[in-house]
Amino acid sequence: TSLSAELQARMRDVPDFPRPGIVFKDITPVLADPVLFPRLIQALAEPFRDQRITKVVGVEARGFILGAPVALALNAGFVPARKPGKLPSRTVTERYALEYGTDALEMHQDAVLRGERTLIVDDVLATGGTAEATAKLIAQVGGELVGFSFLIALGFLDGVKRLGAHHVHRLITL
Ligand code: IMP
Repeated sequence: TSLSAELQARMRDVPDFPRPGIVFKDITPVLADPVLFPRLIQALAEPFRDQRITKVVGVEARGFILGAPVALALNAGFVPARKPGKLPSRTVTERYALEYGTDALEMHQDAVLRGERTLIVDDVLATGGTAEATAKLIAQVGGELVGFSFLIALGFLDGVKRLGAHHVHRLITL
Protein backbone atom coordinates (compact mmCIF):
# COMPACT_ATOMS: atom_id res chain seq x y z
CA THR A 1 0.00 0.00 0.00
CA SER A 2 1.07 3.57 -0.60
CA LEU A 3 2.38 5.82 2.14
CA SER A 4 -0.66 8.10 1.98
CA ALA A 5 -2.99 5.11 2.43
CA GLU A 6 -0.95 3.90 5.42
CA LEU A 7 -0.95 7.36 6.97
CA GLN A 8 -4.67 7.71 6.46
CA ALA A 9 -5.29 4.32 8.07
CA ARG A 10 -3.40 5.42 11.20
CA MET A 11 -5.23 8.72 11.70
CA ARG A 12 -8.34 9.00 13.84
CA ASP A 13 -11.47 11.03 13.15
CA VAL A 14 -12.72 12.53 16.41
CA PRO A 15 -16.26 13.91 16.07
CA ASP A 16 -17.28 17.09 17.89
CA PHE A 17 -13.73 18.12 18.86
CA PRO A 18 -12.81 20.81 19.83
CA ARG A 19 -16.39 22.00 19.26
CA PRO A 20 -19.69 20.36 18.25
CA GLY A 21 -19.93 19.82 14.48
CA ILE A 22 -16.15 19.65 13.86
CA VAL A 23 -14.56 16.33 12.89
CA PHE A 24 -10.97 16.56 14.15
CA LYS A 25 -8.19 14.66 12.38
CA ASP A 26 -6.06 13.18 15.17
CA ILE A 27 -2.54 12.53 13.85
CA THR A 28 -1.01 11.37 17.16
CA PRO A 29 -1.17 7.62 16.23
CA VAL A 30 1.07 8.41 13.22
CA LEU A 31 3.55 10.29 15.44
CA ALA A 32 3.65 7.35 17.87
CA ASP A 33 4.54 4.84 15.14
CA PRO A 34 8.34 4.37 14.98
CA VAL A 35 8.23 3.29 11.31
CA LEU A 36 5.56 5.63 9.90
CA PHE A 37 6.77 8.80 11.64
CA PRO A 38 10.20 8.88 9.94
CA ARG A 39 8.62 7.96 6.59
CA LEU A 40 6.19 10.85 7.03
CA ILE A 41 9.06 13.26 7.70
CA GLN A 42 11.01 12.11 4.63
CA ALA A 43 7.87 12.45 2.47
CA LEU A 44 7.21 16.00 3.70
CA ALA A 45 10.82 16.99 2.91
CA GLU A 46 11.16 15.08 -0.39
CA PRO A 47 10.14 17.68 -3.05
CA PHE A 48 12.29 20.34 -1.36
CA ARG A 49 15.57 18.38 -1.11
CA ASP A 50 17.21 20.21 -4.02
CA GLN A 51 15.60 23.56 -3.26
CA ARG A 52 18.44 24.98 -1.07
CA ILE A 53 16.04 25.61 1.83
CA THR A 54 17.83 27.23 4.78
CA LYS A 55 14.84 27.81 7.11
CA VAL A 56 11.77 25.73 7.92
CA VAL A 57 8.95 27.60 9.68
CA GLY A 58 6.63 25.38 11.76
CA VAL A 59 3.25 26.59 13.00
CA GLU A 60 2.25 26.09 16.64
CA ALA A 61 1.79 23.42 17.79
CA ARG A 62 1.74 20.35 15.52
CA GLY A 63 3.82 22.25 12.95
CA PHE A 64 6.64 22.20 15.55
CA ILE A 65 6.51 18.40 15.80
CA LEU A 66 6.67 17.96 12.02
CA GLY A 67 8.71 21.03 11.08
CA ALA A 68 11.75 20.43 13.30
CA PRO A 69 12.59 16.97 11.88
CA VAL A 70 11.84 18.24 8.33
CA ALA A 71 14.41 20.99 8.98
CA LEU A 72 16.96 18.33 9.98
CA ALA A 73 16.15 16.32 6.85
CA LEU A 74 16.84 19.42 4.70
CA ASN A 75 19.92 20.59 6.66
CA ALA A 76 17.98 23.76 7.43
CA GLY A 77 17.33 25.71 10.60
CA PHE A 78 13.96 25.63 12.39
CA VAL A 79 11.81 28.68 13.21
CA PRO A 80 8.61 28.58 15.30
CA ALA A 81 5.57 30.69 14.34
CA ARG A 82 3.65 31.09 17.60
CA LYS A 83 0.44 32.34 19.13
CA PRO A 84 0.70 35.94 20.48
CA GLY A 85 2.76 36.59 23.59
CA LYS A 86 4.80 33.37 23.55
CA LEU A 87 8.01 34.49 21.84
CA PRO A 88 10.39 36.41 24.12
CA SER A 89 12.28 38.68 21.71
CA ARG A 90 11.22 41.19 19.02
CA THR A 91 8.49 39.81 16.78
CA VAL A 92 6.53 40.48 13.62
CA THR A 93 2.76 39.82 13.82
CA GLU A 94 -0.01 38.85 11.39
CA ARG A 95 -3.71 38.81 12.25
CA TYR A 96 -6.03 36.49 10.39
CA ALA A 97 -9.76 35.82 10.30
CA LEU A 98 -11.28 32.75 11.92
CA GLU A 99 -14.79 31.48 11.41
CA TYR A 100 -15.71 33.54 14.48
CA GLY A 101 -13.34 36.40 15.27
CA THR A 102 -9.63 36.74 14.62
CA ASP A 103 -6.37 35.20 15.74
CA ALA A 104 -2.74 36.12 15.25
CA LEU A 105 0.68 34.55 14.74
CA GLU A 106 4.09 35.90 15.64
CA MET A 107 7.63 35.12 14.55
CA HIS A 108 10.94 36.47 15.79
CA GLN A 109 11.91 39.33 13.54
CA ASP A 110 15.49 38.09 13.11
CA ALA A 111 14.64 34.38 12.66
CA VAL A 112 14.41 34.46 8.86
CA LEU A 113 16.90 36.67 7.04
CA ARG A 114 16.24 38.75 3.93
CA GLY A 115 16.31 36.45 0.88
CA GLU A 116 16.48 33.22 2.88
CA ARG A 117 14.83 30.29 1.10
CA THR A 118 12.05 29.21 3.44
CA LEU A 119 9.60 26.31 3.69
CA ILE A 120 6.40 26.37 5.81
CA VAL A 121 5.31 23.10 7.48
CA ASP A 122 2.03 22.27 9.24
CA ASP A 123 -0.13 19.20 9.83
CA VAL A 124 -3.45 20.33 8.32
CA LEU A 125 -4.36 22.85 5.61
CA ALA A 126 -8.04 23.80 5.94
CA THR A 127 -9.13 27.31 4.90
CA GLY A 128 -5.51 28.36 4.39
CA GLY A 129 -5.83 31.28 6.80
CA THR A 130 -3.07 30.05 9.10
CA ALA A 131 -0.68 29.23 6.25
CA GLU A 132 -1.36 32.55 4.53
CA ALA A 133 -0.63 34.45 7.76
CA THR A 134 2.63 32.50 8.15
CA ALA A 135 3.61 33.39 4.57
CA LYS A 136 2.98 37.07 5.39
CA LEU A 137 5.27 36.84 8.44
CA ILE A 138 8.05 35.62 6.14
CA ALA A 139 7.25 38.39 3.63
CA GLN A 140 7.41 41.01 6.42
CA VAL A 141 11.06 40.16 7.11
CA GLY A 142 11.95 39.76 3.42
CA GLY A 143 12.39 35.97 3.34
CA GLU A 144 11.86 34.08 0.09
CA LEU A 145 9.01 31.61 0.46
CA VAL A 146 9.70 28.47 -1.59
CA GLY A 147 6.61 26.48 -0.64
CA PHE A 148 4.44 24.66 1.86
CA SER A 149 4.39 21.07 3.07
CA PHE A 150 1.30 19.58 4.76
CA LEU A 151 0.34 16.13 5.94
CA ILE A 152 -3.35 16.72 5.12
CA ALA A 153 -5.17 19.17 2.84
CA LEU A 154 -8.91 19.34 3.45
CA GLY A 155 -9.65 19.83 -0.24
CA PHE A 156 -13.23 20.97 -0.05
CA LEU A 157 -12.14 24.13 1.75
CA ASP A 158 -9.92 25.18 -1.15
CA GLY A 159 -7.04 26.31 1.05
CA VAL A 160 -4.57 25.55 -1.73
CA LYS A 161 -6.02 28.26 -3.99
CA ARG A 162 -5.51 30.86 -1.28
CA LEU A 163 -1.78 30.11 -1.18
CA GLY A 164 -1.37 31.41 -4.72
CA ALA A 165 1.41 30.33 -7.04
CA HIS A 166 3.58 28.65 -4.41
CA HIS A 167 4.39 24.94 -4.40
CA VAL A 168 1.84 23.37 -2.03
CA HIS A 169 2.94 19.80 -1.23
CA ARG A 170 0.40 17.61 0.58
CA LEU A 171 0.47 13.89 1.30
CA ILE A 172 -3.27 13.35 1.76
CA THR A 173 -6.18 15.30 0.27
CA LEU A 174 -9.55 14.73 1.91
P1 IMP B 1 -6.81 26.86 8.44
O1 IMP B 1 -6.18 28.12 8.93
O2 IMP B 1 -8.30 26.96 8.33
O3 IMP B 1 -6.17 26.37 7.15
O4 IMP B 1 -6.58 25.74 9.56
C1 IMP B 1 -5.35 25.12 9.69
C2 IMP B 1 -4.89 25.12 11.13
O5 IMP B 1 -5.88 24.55 11.97
C3 IMP B 1 -3.64 24.27 11.27
O6 IMP B 1 -2.72 24.92 12.12
C4 IMP B 1 -4.14 22.97 11.83
O7 IMP B 1 -3.25 22.43 12.77
C5 IMP B 1 -5.47 23.29 12.47
N1 IMP B 1 -6.53 22.33 12.12
C6 IMP B 1 -7.66 22.55 11.42
N2 IMP B 1 -8.41 21.45 11.32
C7 IMP B 1 -7.74 20.49 11.94
C8 IMP B 1 -7.98 19.08 12.16
O8 IMP B 1 -9.00 18.47 11.77
N3 IMP B 1 -7.01 18.41 12.83
C9 IMP B 1 -5.90 19.01 13.28
N4 IMP B 1 -5.65 20.31 13.10
C10 IMP B 1 -6.55 21.04 12.44
